[in-house]
Amino acid sequence: MKLYDSIIEETLGALAKGTPKCFSYEKEKPWSCLENTEFIMQRDAGPELGGSGEPSVNYTCVTTSGLANEDEIIVYGQDIPEIKKDTAFARIVILETCDLKESEDQEKTFQTIRNMEFVRYHVFPEGYMVRVSASSNQEQVRIAKSAIKKGICFSKVGAAYIKKYKEIPEIKKVRVIFVTEKELVNAIKGNAEKVDAITKTLTHILDGMPTDCGHCSMKPVCDEVDGLKELHLGKKAAK
Ligand code: SF4
Repeated sequence: MKLYDSIIEETLGALAKGTPKCFSYEKEKPWSCLENTEFIMQRDAGPELGGSGEPSVNYTCVTTSGLANEDEIIVYGQDIPEIKKDTAFARIVILETCDLKESEDQEKTFQTIRNMEFVRYHVFPEGYMVRVSASSNQEQVRIAKSAIKKGICFSKVGAAYIKKYKEIPEIKKVRVIFVTEKELVNAIKGNAEKVDAITKTLTHILDGMPTDCGHCSMKPVCDEVDGLKELHLGKKAAK
């Protein structure tokens, strides 16, 4: 699965302008999670991530190219305890998977991709209320003052995400990146739409849509992203 590799490289290239703080998953205790989303009143919350019109973005990329070779959490910008006012926010996840062998077992690939998408929106760290807009790929987070007092930070929240992702057997490594530096969030924000277009096209292909490129609304995406046509039409037909 190399469909997202150019976006991962673009993201890492843009983030290289910042200073990362890296945390190994093995050394982190994941923040405790709830079964479902929790409502946190504004009066009980600290500053919001991605709130008050600050830029925010969330996207997830899958790869088999070794672009996520460790389970780790990386933070660019201020960590939760240091944030004193509403701030820009990005959460990027890079998933290293085993070879999904798309053409041989499409149903398994399809199910794995569905499971990954499910986790994206179904981790509920305690005292950390996530509001997502799937249409605009924005993510806002309200953090309870009580959680801040208890020491919530990105390394522990990221570890909670990794723990959940690792329940999917096809996932080998997970890299969760949090960004609170406005300039960096703005630099990577545009990638979300491209990721979305690839994921939607991939889902349609695996769903068994007809192979008629001349009448297909996904053509602009397939023309741009290496590997999508091969996946749908087979190697020879795509040439
Ligand atoms: S390969 Fe052709 S038919 Fe298949 S999704 Fe891409 S453009 Fe559409």
